[in-house]
Amino acid sequence: MNKYYQIDDLKANLLQLRNKNLTIGFVPTMGALHQGHVSLIQQAKKECDIVVCSIFVNPTQFNDKSDLEKYPRTLDADIVLLENALCDVLFTPSAEEMYPEPDNRVFDFERLDKVMEGAHRAGHFNGVAQVVSKLFDIVQPHKAYFGQKDFQQLAIVKALVKKLNIGVEIIGCPIIRETDGLAMSSRNVRLSAEERKTAPVIFQTLSKVKELSKKYTVRELKTFVEKEISQNTLLSLDYFEIVDAISLQPIDNITEANEVVACIAVKLGNVRLIDNIILIP
Ligand code: AMP
Repeated sequence: MNKYYQIDDLKANLLQLRNKNLTIGFVPTMGALHQGHVSLIQQAKKECDIVVCSIFVNPTQFNDKSDLEKYPRTLDADIVLLENALCDVLFTPSAEEMYPEPDNRVFDFERLDKVMEGAHRAGHFNGVAQVVSKLFDIVQPHKAYFGQKDFQQLAIVKALVKKLNIGVEIIGCPIIRETDGLAMSSRNVRLSAEERKTAPVIFQTLSKVKELSKKYTVRELKTFVEKEISQNTLLSLDYFEIVDAISLQPIDNITEANEVVACIAVKLGNVRLIDNIILIP
């Protein structure tokens, strides 16, 4: 695997590959890699000649300074995992390399970024749009791979490439879970043993929601989730929403949309976790 720290070096290498007509698949990450990230690399390897992975903990998407400071950084282990996954190229820029000057661009995704994560983490998706647009400009991939775990982020990235006319195909990939159902996340390593034991409640609750969605109303499902989460003293609910999977707007009736997803954000101790489950189709 070739490793690059500087934009110009990476660009020169990728230009050579593009000139050989090789297709480039791109997997942007913030590191502390796990099997969820590996699944994106594997999908990219199936569909593209060359797979580029970036590891960059993007400061502009963190609205909470201590969350940024505590974000796990495990570069040596990440490199081993990427080598094993047969990733071709790793790009790990510094913050100075990515932001030689402050990025003052303001993006507006209309209704998409006003709900859920957008409503609860001010400026988060603006930071995501800043870094993803820069990374796409540097890597110029044919395809880029994002997890459905960050369901709203996937929708924002699709809207971003449309807005900026970026010629990259965005591929959404399924959520990879631990055997007990907990969605894999870099943040899971920050859970205490007791918190980790509690964590499967999140997906258990979502699975129950899917089952109950056949007979319960949206209001009843929300009450159910509020009750399930509040029963556990380690958990606190940030939000639970049932939304149209395309517009991401909350719906009052499950039958109102053709594609429906239930999204949750909880605090477990001081670790914030998100997850979701498709209800329809
Ligand atoms: P992150 O490093 O958390 O910014 O995630 C990088 C990419 O990996 C994003 O597209 C995430 O949606 C994706 N990802 C993170 N966790 C998972 C998971 N458990 N399953 C599938 N994709 C994931």
